[in-house]
Amino acid sequence: DPSAALRQGMIGLSKNTKVRDVVEKAPVSKDVVKRFVAGTGTADAVSAVRELDGHGKLATLDFLGEDTLDKAQAIHTRDTYLDLLADLADAGLTDGGRVEVSLKLSALGQALPQDGKKISLDFARSICEAAAIAGTTVTLDMEDHTTTDATLESLAELRKDFPTTGAVLQAYLKRTEADCRDLATEGSRVRLCKGAYSEPASVAFQDKGEVDMNYVKCLRVLMEGKGYPMVASHDPRIIEIAGSLADKNLRAADSFEYQMLYGIRPKEQQRLADAGNRMRVYVPYGDEWYGYLVRRMAERPANTMFFLRAVTGK
Ligand code: FAD
Repeated sequence: DPSAALRQGMIGLSKNTKVRDVVEKAPVSKDVVKRFVAGTGTADAVSAVRELDGHGKLATLDFLGEDTLDKAQAIHTRDTYLDLLADLADAGLTDGGRVEVSLKLSALGQALPQDGKKISLDFARSICEAAAIAGTTVTLDMEDHTTTDATLESLAELRKDFPTTGAVLQAYLKRTEADCRDLATEGSRVRLCKGAYSEPASVAFQDKGEVDMNYVKCLRVLMEGKGYPMVASHDPRIIEIAGSLADKNLRAADSFEYQMLYGIRPKEQQRLADAGNRMRVYVPYGDEWYGYLVRRMAERPANTMFFLRAVTGK
């Protein structure tokens, strides 16, 4: 399957630090990046979500970064989230969870050789505390399958004190239907996405059709359950099915939400919001945009061409 090969290659590129350094330094990249990334600093992030809020959309902010093996970097990530939450609260954007934050435990040191899991959990806990003070909450992004158990364990710990902390489950993983059953409980927020990493056949469906089918199966479990489903997809078929599953389960418009990425299908985002749905936009910001962007390219070759043309000036 050529698109699978391209995806694999692109994801490989996302780990190549030489390529990353060249691309990050290409001046023109900055303009292209703007389409998908809200800027580099906290002020940029706050102004992007203020604009979304003005148009009736919810947001979740992601300070870009992942896979750190440097404790100082993990501390910097934690502190950036703490500052961000204070600024969002000052701007009046956090009450009722209108703007929340998404965290990657790997950016908070989950893979540090010494006590990584504990450090990332402690840092995530501080961010959950700051979010609660600001009147909002946190969602733990899900990364590659080697971290799923650790991330779900950390989630369970955080939910003891901060029960609204959200989980992410990935429909490409074979285990996910069972995880959905476990998490489809009262007060539990679960973002369901297809999954963005390159995973082996032993744990993940490789065929797009199978991933889509599993997405629908998992979504059915979440919509029938007692939790709060967060439908993270740009796929028109998935969005339509989500609407009918919500109707079938007599779900009120405020008992689930749609989620899409910043810069992807913005008109559809507005249409869903204008129709009275809860629509949350995932807004990444910061300097470390390379891995994030390469995953978006891998999903959509049209974006890749757009990006490469701009980088090479052709
Ligand atoms: P795809 O299968 O990529 O696309 C299906 C259809 O959607 C396309 O055929 C097209 O009709 C439409 N479409 C897609 N992209 C575009 C576009 N650029 N322009 C126009 N139409 C388009 N992944 C993780 O692994 N962990 C996470 O924590 C995580 N969090 C996420 C949070 C949010 C809010 C979202 C939206 C995604 C997240 N993802 C995460 C990424 C996700 O797993 C997918 O990789 C990504 O969303 C692409 O899948 P898709 O469902 O949009 O459908």
